[in-house]
Amino acid sequence: MSQLRVAAAAAGGLRRTGSRAALPARRRRKGASPRKAAPAPAPGPPSSRHLFSDPAETEALRRNLLAWYDTCKRDLPWRTRAATEPDADRRAYAVWVSEIMLQQTQVATVIDYYNRWMQKWPTLQALAQASLEEVNELWAGLGYYSRGKRLQEAARKVVSELAGRMPRTAEDLQQLLPGVGRYTAAAIASISYGQATGVVDGNVIRVLCRLRCIGADSSSPAVIDRLWDMANALVDRSRPGDFNQALMELGATVCVPKAPLCGECPVKQHCRARLRVEKELASASQKLLGKATPVPDVEDCGAGGCPLCPPAAEPWDSSLGVTNFPRKAAKKQARVARAATCVLERRGCRGAPQYLIVQRPSSGLLAGLWEFPSLPLAQDLQEEKQREALAEHLQAWIGQPVVAGDLQLIGEVIHIFSHIHQTYVVYSLSLDGDVTLDPASSPSRWVTEEEFHASAVSTAMKKVLKVCGKQQEKGSNPGQGSKRKRGAKAQGTGSTGPGTQLSLRAFLRPPTAP
Ligand code: SF4
Ligand code: ZN
Repeated sequence: MSQLRVAAAAAGGLRRTGSRAALPARRRRKGASPRKAAPAPAPGPPSSRHLFSDPAETEALRRNLLAWYDTCKRDLPWRTRAATEPDADRRAYAVWVSEIMLQQTQVATVIDYYNRWMQKWPTLQALAQASLEEVNELWAGLGYYSRGKRLQEAARKVVSELAGRMPRTAEDLQQLLPGVGRYTAAAIASISYGQATGVVDGNVIRVLCRLRCIGADSSSPAVIDRLWDMANALVDRSRPGDFNQALMELGATVCVPKAPLCGECPVKQHCRARLRVEKELASASQKLLGKATPVPDVEDCGAGGCPLCPPAAEPWDSSLGVTNFPRKAAKKQARVARAATCVLERRGCRGAPQYLIVQRPSSGLLAGLWEFPSLPLAQDLQEEKQREALAEHLQAWIGQPVVAGDLQLIGEVIHIFSHIHQTYVVYSLSLDGDVTLDPASSPSRWVTEEEFHASAVSTAMKKVLKVCGKQQEKGSNPGQGSKRKRGAKAQGTGSTGPGTQLSLRAFLRPPTAP
């Protein structure tokens, strides 16, 4: 193997010296300065090893995949709607909602959200009339909140500017609807209208990269373009929607990232990654028997010369088998962020606790969602300083002085957003009476626990409340903590310091002079 690689690398090196970069000066573009560096050579076309160039094989693959899908597909509510809804606009809307919800979210999680959404807004027209607050409330917990917002904006656009008629091709869907990218447009058009266009999502990338041994960075635009070409060439002309769903279903249930079930795979006879593994196994067993080792005929095309093979520095790793593919460039490190947040609690009617929540700005991360009053913190800020900063922040919300030392430190909650590693330093403060909210600081409101969960709040805030509740449970157990029981009043002076809750009188007292 290693000798083969050396030979292949050498061959690749020879090919490179014969590339366009080495063309003599007389063949340079007319007028180009001879002192300027020649442009990087365009990668050549991929070898047939990475393509579906045999029409008979393509036909067989389509047939096998569709036959498997017909018997093994999961029963999903959006599939039922797509198959039974006679109205094209309603059908497209039903598929669209599912596709937006499924982006970055597991099928099992989406089902309940989808059913509630379609019950509440069964048509584009119904969705167009909803408020953003209602959309956020239903979306809460699905993550990537801007997706729900943009879905509703696009529905309004279809109703107000397109007379309620969904665009009828992938190209128009992508061009006319905000938040609809190439994948979503192709999925809607193929599943709802039967347009013969392929789709490329994470599952399809994985399956195609394995079927055709594509080891170049699968997140690079050049490879993604090749995969789109491949998906468009491969899609079944008579059942494009089913074919696309079958390919995605295969990636979701059989050709999974870590332990693919190759033995059960309906397209294993077309899979070049599996073929390579089989050749290696055969070669190894020949070796064990002391027989001459046959040369595998599934080596890389040539180190450095092929735009779709693994980079020469990261060759095929036999221990990984088919999971050598796909490969991605190392992910960018998530940004690390800290925020202080405070669960402000008061007694509502009949003594039930109520919490203060405030609304985030209408743009940016978690736009328009509700949260406990929170404040971004510098990474190295000392606890005393962050407490002071939070007290000042709370004061701005409620228009009354807050003593920093009265905030009870509960602990930390870590939440990973797609690109942010967020830590919330959680504090609590319990009030014994009403506090009039400063209308200038609106929007803010007091909510019961039930109302909190029904509001458009992020999963991170739900975690914060949970941690706070746990801490209070501990505190109410006499053997476990110093925190007073719910409803018990602190004495008037409102002694301060971590672990002590506060009376309203103490809460409202002016801060002591520095
Ligand atoms: Fe994926 Fe294995 Fe099927 Fe190849 S044979 S497509 S690696 S499940
Ligand atoms: Zn190659």
